[in-house]
Amino acid sequence: MDLSTQDIKFLPGVGPRRADLFNKELSIYTVEDLLGHYPYRYVDRSRFYKLSEISEDMPFIQVKGKIMQFEKIGTGHKQRLTAIFSDGENVIELIWFKGVRFILDRYKIGVEYVIFGKPTLFNRKYNIVHPEIETVEQLPPPDQMGFQPFYNTTEKMKNNFLNSKAIQKILYPVIKKIESGIPETIPTSIIQRFRLMNLTESLVNIHFPKNSEALSRARQRLKFEELFYIQLNILRQTHWRDNTFKGFIFSKVGDYFNTFFNEHLPFELTGAQKRVIKEIRADFVTGKQMNRLLQGDVGSGKTLVALMVMLIALDNGFQACLMAPTEILANQHFATITEMLDGMDVKVALITGSTKKKEREVIHADLLSGEGQIIIGTHALIEDTVQFKNLGLVIIDEQHRFGVAQRSKLWGKNVQPPHVLVMTATPIPRTLAMTLYGDLSVSVIDELPPGRKPIQTYHYYESKRNALLGFLRKQINEGRQVYVVYPLIQESEAMDFRNLEEGYEFMKEVFPDFKISMVHGKMKPAEKEEHMQKFVSGETQLMVATTVIEVGVNVPNASVMVIESAERFGLSQLHQLRGRVGRGAKQSYCILLTGVELSKTTRKRMEIMTRTNDGFEISEADLMLRGPGDIEGTVQSGIPFELKIADLAKDGQMLEIARNAAMDVLEKDPELKSDEYKMLAVQLKKMKTNTINWGAIS
Ligand code: ADP
Ligand code: MG
Repeated sequence: MDLSTQDIKFLPGVGPRRADLFNKELSIYTVEDLLGHYPYRYVDRSRFYKLSEISEDMPFIQVKGKIMQFEKIGTGHKQRLTAIFSDGENVIELIWFKGVRFILDRYKIGVEYVIFGKPTLFNRKYNIVHPEIETVEQLPPPDQMGFQPFYNTTEKMKNNFLNSKAIQKILYPVIKKIESGIPETIPTSIIQRFRLMNLTESLVNIHFPKNSEALSRARQRLKFEELFYIQLNILRQTHWRDNTFKGFIFSKVGDYFNTFFNEHLPFELTGAQKRVIKEIRADFVTGKQMNRLLQGDVGSGKTLVALMVMLIALDNGFQACLMAPTEILANQHFATITEMLDGMDVKVALITGSTKKKEREVIHADLLSGEGQIIIGTHALIEDTVQFKNLGLVIIDEQHRFGVAQRSKLWGKNVQPPHVLVMTATPIPRTLAMTLYGDLSVSVIDELPPGRKPIQTYHYYESKRNALLGFLRKQINEGRQVYVVYPLIQESEAMDFRNLEEGYEFMKEVFPDFKISMVHGKMKPAEKEEHMQKFVSGETQLMVATTVIEVGVNVPNASVMVIESAERFGLSQLHQLRGRVGRGAKQSYCILLTGVELSKTTRKRMEIMTRTNDGFEISEADLMLRGPGDIEGTVQSGIPFELKIADLAKDGQMLEIARNAAMDVLEKDPELKSDEYKMLAVQLKKMKTNTINWGAIS
């Protein structure tokens, strides 16, 4: 009996029409798929409540009692029906907005019923809207009474009577049938080692829990399985990659690096920078291709690390490239790096969308001949026409903006894939990193250059704007510069754009004596560049912008970041924006402006921002508040990201255990050929491609 080939169509109560709904709405085709459609919630129906016990935070309750009276209120479309229901001691109101006639026909005063529903408090009295009502005889058989599962369905399914209850009915006989045992999907040794519930029992109990302990063990097992297979998949691909591709060996630290280190380094490296450079150097001599993720908060000095490891590539006769997500940032990297290398004989070039054709051709020729050594640019860099003589190292800055496909293109730029260093300023919670970038080694810069004063962050309501303007004036008069950032979200682009322009006009009126730059995504690159440059050089004191300035821009003299409509930004984006200030020696400030009416999670976001500057703490909080699917970087990475039962925000420890177990397995049997582990290879193969091509993420 292979459940993965049994079409649900043939299950009692399904048939072709419902099967079609299952297929289209939930991608459920086989009995195995259906068994994998776990309930999202359970309701304890093992006991009857007394009305005196009710509180509002109870999700669902069931109460035994009698209807004392009905009352129809209103007429026609607006009609509703209420009933007073008594458990013998207290009463509660039942309310129906639909099906009034049906209810009155069906249910009788004075008969004993079991009602079931969610109590809500209204006018200091409890009521239940549209309760389920059953006669005592109608109650499910005792073995179904315990926990009642609730299944996700869609609007379309519900309209066709394929609701949670219907799914429960379809599943019940299936579960009865598998109770005698189905093949295990995790090797016995692992089941024993971690004392996991077996698959059969887990599936039985995830759908129809015998009790809360059995449910909890079933959940543990299924979470473990999900995480274990993800990790096994990632690690196996990594293993395959390591064994398939050789890596260039950069054994030398030579003149380029040493000259820079001894004569050009503008400041002492931080301890964290030194450590990370060491970690990368160690990768360079293993003979394997490096795939490393460098996480470092905004302003932690990643560019310098990038430059120094590129010099090592040069020392070994290789070329290096540095890719940035935006033109502004690429320009800035180019400026910073050429300045730092001033006086050294290194050929650095820049390619972006606005590089002229002639100039581009020269650069292309240089790269092909090997004369060009370091190339900096946007994704224009990875166009097919760009060819290298000997590309050895690729550095990708602010990685979450590059799609997987774009990154993998780089691999073909040499006969052997170059080393890859991915740098991100959006710290990723460890659990996410292990899952999204599980095949990358991770380095962390967890220390800011000395002398930085922590940015002070304040949350102001818009009503305080006037006071804020006074503060901005004071800062500018002291020689500082100010950013004012407006949200720009695609669906309301026109409106946001107006806000930005109005904001600009407003600032011009308020500060006629100051010069103001404006930058937004609709500008021509040259125009954008001009405004940006004026702010960088200090010619303009204010920068009014959309989030195009979010990434990387470095103006140490800027000391205030004002974020308009801050409620519309996610946590990590707010943190990124804040990182534009606090780069110089002067005290910096971040002001979050919002309206007065804020949701609970928005309030929480503001609270976190004002409390901490720690990017890792913020990313963890972000994960908790929004769930992994919404985390910036996850979405942009183009990875469809949905776990069935495990939760990366909460199951970090389990993930760690699962990853270690997977490592263990691969250490013992990398090919998964032994009797014990060959089932794993079979399972991996079966894993649908709705999961992810993890191996391509590098
Ligand atoms: P990020 O990690 O956000 O890309 P940058 O590389 O732009 O950070 O560095 C931020 C600023 O810190 C730059 O002005 C850079 O010159 C400076 N910086 C980098 N490393 C050090 C250091 N070790 N000591 C002092 N300043 C440093
Ligand atoms: Mg940077």
